[in-house]
Amino acid sequence: MSRLGRLTRQLADAALQLTLPLFDANAAPPVVTRQGTRVIRLEGRFVEYSMRRSRRRTIGLVIDDRGLAVTAPRWVSQAEVEAVLNERANWVLRKLVEWREHAARRDRIAIRWEHGAAVPFLGETLTLSIEPSHAGSALRDGTMLRLALPPGAGREQIQDTVQGWIQQQARACFGERVARFSRQLGVAPKRWSLSSARTRWGSCSADGSIRLNWRLMHFPEEIVDYVICHELAHLKELNHGPVFWRTVGELFPEYQRVRDLLRTYPDDVTIS
Ligand SMILES: [Zn+2]
Repeated sequence: MSRLGRLTRQLADAALQLTLPLFDANAAPPVVTRQGTRVIRLEGRFVEYSMRRSRRRTIGLVIDDRGLAVTAPRWVSQAEVEAVLNERANWVLRKLVEWREHAARRDRIAIRWEHGAAVPFLGETLTLSIEPSHAGSALRDGTMLRLALPPGAGREQIQDTVQGWIQQQARACFGERVARFSRQLGVAPKRWSLSSARTRWGSCSADGSIRLNWRLMHFPEEIVDYVICHELAHLKELNHGPVFWRTVGELFPEYQRVRDLLRTYPDDVTIS
């Protein structure tokens, strides 16, 4: 398997936790649904969906990782909406199953959070080692990440310790790069902070502050550099027009190749 393939497989950390609203035929309809949602029975299966009224002229159905969303004109009755859902039941169920399988695939690429597990880190692979006698909570030693945890430490405890360490590394790594590229650009962000967003690698606000996802630390350094340059360039151009991309290119000449590389990573996370 390619290095990229391996990395991608290990990147579940960046994956979303999904619960698709699709219930088995024999199960009772859900008693508690998410706020503002409805439930319909399609071909014997209960499907939860969100309903929004709009000024559009037709009924719209969208299925993604959040489930089924229906948008309907204000003058359409609930019975008519349900008739459309029944008519398109096959498609709705097929799409929901596809998304559920997609979510399951991502779950399989999860970091195992146990002794000996591999954790992708800035283009390298670190191996977790639980060492009860070790001092300090986590310490990198070559390609080993030594964790001072009791022998019976649970997955959650291991995950917390490792992620805490990664966030600490992210602060130093991003801080150094933000300073370096800001000098090059001639503009610095008002402030920058770490984010744990499930759907964004980075963002830049109109007030000049930047947020960078600490999970980028699971990627090669060039991806970290690209995302930082992308967000810094927004300090000059808060859009994705030609001037923006020229600015990114001045900071990071290889941006096109790395941008394409980033697109091969889990597809539910974007950069803005
Ligand atoms: Zn952007």
